[in-house]
Amino acid sequence: MKSKTAVLQSEVFLAHDPGPGHVEVPQRLVGLYRELARPEQRQRFLFPDFLPVDEDTLALNHSRAHIARVAATAGSPFECLDPDTCTSPRSYEAACLAAGAAVKAVDLVTAGEADKAFALVRPPGHHAEHDRTRGFCLFNNIAVAARHALQNLGLERILIVDWDLHHGNGTQQAFYDTDQVLFFSTHQYPYFPGTGALSETGRGRGEGYTINVPLQGGQDDAAFARIFNELLTPLAEQYRPELILVSAGFDTYGGDPLGTMMVTEAGYAYMTGVLGELAAGLCGGRLVMVLEGGYDLTIMERGVLACLGEMAGDRLLPKKSRTRLRQAVGPLRALEYARETAKKYWTIPG
Ligand code: ZN
Repeated sequence: MKSKTAVLQSEVFLAHDPGPGHVEVPQRLVGLYRELARPEQRQRFLFPDFLPVDEDTLALNHSRAHIARVAATAGSPFECLDPDTCTSPRSYEAACLAAGAAVKAVDLVTAGEADKAFALVRPPGHHAEHDRTRGFCLFNNIAVAARHALQNLGLERILIVDWDLHHGNGTQQAFYDTDQVLFFSTHQYPYFPGTGALSETGRGRGEGYTINVPLQGGQDDAAFARIFNELLTPLAEQYRPELILVSAGFDTYGGDPLGTMMVTEAGYAYMTGVLGELAAGLCGGRLVMVLEGGYDLTIMERGVLACLGEMAGDRLLPKKSRTRLRQAVGPLRALEYARETAKKYWTIPG
C-alpha cells in the first residue's frame, strides 16, 4: 500500500491566544481543520496522535531558563514575553504540543510510518532563539525537531528550507556552527527580524552551511521557482540530506497583511513538488513541513492545501504551469548575488 502523508493537528493549538488585535490568531487554523475534517480528507491523509515534547528534548535547543520562563506563564491570564509575543493560560501547553508535533512528524517519516508529514501547528517557531521568545514564537518547533533527529535518531545531515516571508533567525542561530544542518532561507529583506543578510553564511564547521537569499518585496511564483531550480536544487544534491524539513510560512502569499510578496497556490505547489522530488531522490522521500506564518486566513488555507495536495501526489498544478515554472527565466538580482555567495562553498551552475 502506498504510504500516506501525515497531518498533525490538535484543538490545543487553538487555545493559544496572543491577545486582542494580534494577527497570529487561533482562527488561522480553524478553516483548515474544518476542511481536513471532511471524510475524503480523512481518507486521504493520516491523522496521528502525538504528545507534548518533553523538557529534555526541548532543552536540546533551548536553555532551561527559557523553558522555565515560558512554563511560568501556564495558567496566567495574559503576559508578554517580548513586544510581539504574548501568552494566554494555555500557551505553554500549545507550545509544548507544537514542538511535540514537529518531533512526531520527524519520527513518523524517519521510521517510514508516513511518507511525508505536515505539522499544522501554532504558535509558530522559527524566530524563537536559544534563550528567548521572538516574533510570536515561544519554542522553535523545527529546530527542536531537527535537534531530536540529530541527537536521538542518529541523523547526520538535515536540510532545513525556510520559505516564510521573515528570516528564520532562531533556526539559523541554532545551527550556525554546524555542518549537520544546511539552512536555506528566502525572505523579504531588510525586514523583521533584521537578520538574513547574504554575508551570514555560518561559522566554524558551519561555514557555508547557512545560505540566505534576501529578497525585495514583489517576488512572484517564477522568482521563487528560479531560486529553487537554480540554487536550492544543486545545493541539496551536493549536500545529500537524510531528511528535508520546511519552515512553511504563507505570509509570502500575495495579499498577506504583513508582506508584499506575490506567491500563489501554484508557487507553493511547485516549491513543494521540487522538494518532494529532491526528497525522493536523496532521502527516501522524507519531507516534513512545519507551519510558520501566514496571516490572511483564506489565502493561507489555500496555500497549505496546495502543499498538502502536492505531498499527497495529486499533482493538481497543471502541467503547463509546472513547465512554465521549471523553465522560468528573467532578471533576478537577488538570485545572482546569492549564487555568487554560495559558489564560495558549493558548485552552482550558471
Ligand atoms: Zn513570517
